[in-house]
This record gives sequence, structure tokens and C-alpha cells, in this order.
Amino acid sequence: MVEWDKDYHERTGKWRPLSAWRNKDGKINVEHPDYIKRLKEQLRKIVKKCDICGEYNLADPCVHHLPDGYINDQKRKEYYSKMKKKKTVIKDTTSNQKRLG
Ligand SMILES: [Zn+2]
Repeated sequence: MVEWDKDYHERTGKWRPLSAWRNKDGKINVEHPDYIKRLKEQLRKIVKKCDICGEYNLADPCVHHLPDGYINDQKRKEYYSKMKKKKTVIKDTTSNQKRLG
């Protein structure tokens, strides 16, 4: 018997055979066409607090809460080098003011 994807039908009005969301062991099927989408939806519901930015969700974490990984390391480096530059600019203006005074 073919099982139909009711969730897909609700969203699109079309029918397609259900590809099992969980396999026989009860594990989530990562090959499922909606896997990434569903994962993101789940993550978006998990809202956490950052002391610096306020709230963020796990689908779109702020720079202070990026999970480890090469791309995220790059983002972090970029962010902190920007912060450093900002600080240097502030220092420069204060030293100028001192000189003027
Ligand atoms: Zn943050």
C-alpha cells in the first residue's frame, strides 16, 4: 500500500507518495526531501538569549553563538577584526581631542 504525503498535500495541493520521515529504527531520514527545511523550521523555534545581541534563534545564530566550523570561524574572525578597527577609531578620536585641548 502506498502512503501519501499529507503534509505536502496541505502545502501544495498536490499528492506524492510519502517518503518515510523516520526509518524503521525510528531515526529521522536525512535523505527526506524536506529534511533541511524541517530542520531549519525546528531550529527557528529555539530562541536563545545572547548578552550582547539580545535574542537569536538556532537557525540564524548571532556571531557570538555560531557553532564550530570552518565557515563560522571565518565569520568570527571577520567580526572581531571589525570590532578591533572600531576600537582603534575611537582611540584615535580621543587622542585628537586631547591634542586639541
Ligand atoms: Zn550575540
